[in-house]
Amino acid sequence: MTLTTWAGNLTYAAARVHEPRTVEQVQEVVAGARRVRALGTRHCFNTVADTSDDLVRLDGLDPAVEVDAAARTVTVSAGTRYGALARELHPQGWALHNLASLPHISVAGAVATATHGSGDRSRNLAAAVAGLDLVTADGSLRHLARGDADFPGAVVALGALGVVVRVTLDVEPAYDVAQEVHTDLPWDAVLEHLDDVTGSADSVSLFTDWTGPAVRQVWRKTRVAPGGAYEPRVDLFGARPAPGPLHPLPGIDPVNCTQQLGVPGPWHERLPHFRLEFTPSNGDELQSEYLVPRAHAVAAIEAMRGLGEVVAPLLQVAEVRTIAGDDLWLSTAEGGDRVGLHFTWLPRQAEVEAVLPRIEAALAPFGARPHWGKLFDAVGAPGSDPRDLYPRLDDFRALVARTDPDGTFRNAFVDRHVLGLG
Ligand SMILES: Cc1cc2nc3c(=O)[nH]c(=O)nc-3n(C[C@H](O)[C@H](O)[C@H](O)COP(=O)(O)OP(=O)(O)OC[C@H]3O[C@@H](n4cnc5c(N)ncnc54)[C@H](O)[C@@H]3O)c2cc1C
Repeated sequence: MTLTTWAGNLTYAAARVHEPRTVEQVQEVVAGARRVRALGTRHCFNTVADTSDDLVRLDGLDPAVEVDAAARTVTVSAGTRYGALARELHPQGWALHNLASLPHISVAGAVATATHGSGDRSRNLAAAVAGLDLVTADGSLRHLARGDADFPGAVVALGALGVVVRVTLDVEPAYDVAQEVHTDLPWDAVLEHLDDVTGSADSVSLFTDWTGPAVRQVWRKTRVAPGGAYEPRVDLFGARPAPGPLHPLPGIDPVNCTQQLGVPGPWHERLPHFRLEFTPSNGDELQSEYLVPRAHAVAAIEAMRGLGEVVAPLLQVAEVRTIAGDDLWLSTAEGGDRVGLHFTWLPRQAEVEAVLPRIEAALAPFGARPHWGKLFDAVGAPGSDPRDLYPRLDDFRALVARTDPDGTFRNAFVDRHVLGLG
């Protein structure tokens, strides 16, 4: 079976694709494989999921969703999409702390790459993981829970420790969210009042092409008690409310976007930018993102504005978000709060790949970490040691060596970018 990434920019090289229906079948595939990788919903843009041998799709596993109200957790099958999970949780009165821009991605795939939404106080999606069950190299099942010594290394693991079959996530009481879009926020105001802008709602995204005197759109999502009212904000540091719904990409119908104009609604119908029933974003695109320590946010934004004329011809749009820090070893927000500088590119991969080293050179002084699931050139500046960016990288390498000595779950991406072997 030939499989491509969601964006269609990459055909997986795997010789075989398995679609197990049970955890036991996953165990059999792994026990019999020389090299094997798990596959989520294929929304990564690079070779992180690929392998030469066996790919295991998890979306055919029993999708049971089990809420433990006393523990405030939900346990789901690894291939479950966030959108499907939310539709089970919300009617039962529960919610997740945050969601990414799209609800289409699988829980295990998103968690494995440190996928995030936006919010000064919102950690990435992996930080909600309270436990996971994974099939290890010999085909046995291992349970890891928060508090276990290996746990902080095993959550954002890029599939390098095994095939996750079940994930337990923290939940909280359901809430509503009101989403508003403002247009033309002057860059001067952003740079002078960045903390006030990103702190003006629970989740804030700035959409720009890095050129011009103003940020094109500001998407703000504010929590509201269920059924509560919300008073939309008029002035936002000189930006004005959009008169109608907008898509973040210029010229695209907002029909596939979540409801705006400050009308409160269920958390899962406002936190993502895009609706589950529609293609998210454009569909014909590539993406990159760099996560920079919050302390360097203004300097990093100014560096990107300095490259505006270089990147704008290849851009559909860029997005600035904020992410609270966590302690997961390979998380892009490990060790402290981050600002995310995201790029939705035109589908011109060779040209995009040619410009990435320039972006990475401009952001290197700020300790930028590339998003594991999007296009990047290298982890850190040429010649630098990725352990400078990820202080727990040696611990992760030791964990891989101890739990997967034959390299069953390794691939070229992990060898090169994580294990320092390529
Ligand atoms: C339109 C679009 C919008 C996006 N928006 C955001 C965003 O808002 N924020 C953000 O941070 N990212 C975003 N992304 C990136 C995306 O969230 C990540 O690439 C995420 O990893 C995709 O999840 P997936 O299930 O498709 O993973 P896949 O691409 O299928 O796999 C990703 C990695 O996870 C591993 N994996 C998958 N399942 C398992 C498993 N069961 N056990 C072990 N390992 C597993 C794979 O081996 C691979 O290494 C976006 C991507 C697209 C296409």
